[in-house]
Amino acid sequence: MNVAENLQKVRLSIPENIKLVAVSKTKSSEIILEAYNAGHRDFAENRVQELSEKYEQLPKDIRWHMIGHLQTNKVKHIAPFVHLIHGVDSMKLLKEINKRATQNNRIIDCLLQIHIAQEATKFGFSFKETEAIFQSEEFKELQNINIVGLMGMATNTNDENQIHTEFHSLADFFKILKTQNSNLQTISMGMSSDYPIAIEAGSDMVRIGSAIFGKRH
Ligand SMILES: *Cc1c(COP(=O)(O)O)cnc(C)c1O
Repeated sequence: MNVAENLQKVRLSIPENIKLVAVSKTKSSEIILEAYNAGHRDFAENRVQELSEKYEQLPKDIRWHMIGHLQTNKVKHIAPFVHLIHGVDSMKLLKEINKRATQNNRIIDCLLQIHIAQEATKFGFSFKETEAIFQSEEFKELQNINIVGLMGMATNTNDENQIHTEFHSLADFFKILKTQNSNLQTISMGMSSDYPIAIEAGSDMVRIGSAIFGKRH
């Protein structure tokens, strides 16, 4: 298992203009440093506690992405430093991020998580709810939050047609939404098992863990 080699392999397998976020959840700081020393700077975690600890331990020029389900009472811990929050899935959470961003004199970039998978367990807004958010007065008042795009996860299945359909439905929706909201630029879709399909569908940010760091136990 060589992290730098894996990273290079993944990097070469995706077009240059696509952002690669290395998902380092459950991996030690030593292992993350192997990727850092190979020049990588974008890392993602799905737990606030783990993210905060690694932020303390690791070099400060790392761009930390929060990709997990985020509870409102934990936003304050990551608000001072988080680079991009991928999984925003409620108006309550948007308001809390805005509040904590304001306290820290920051504007925090976020992606709205859109529910495209079949599994009921995956979080996220429907397309309709997403449109309603952009049109709401409540949302327009949030000055310290910048929605820069959307994030989606496909169903965990071997059926490539289904994954293809889900990613394409999000990409199509994103195209329409973009014509109405000039801040939108990023569509985060694709993980180790399905990123080639996500890229083919139009993803410009992939979140890859096990293909870089090996299986999680
Ligand atoms: C864990 C995780 C990933 C990465 O998964 P791999 O299969 O290890 O590439 C991507 N996105 C989210 C939201 C995750 O929780």
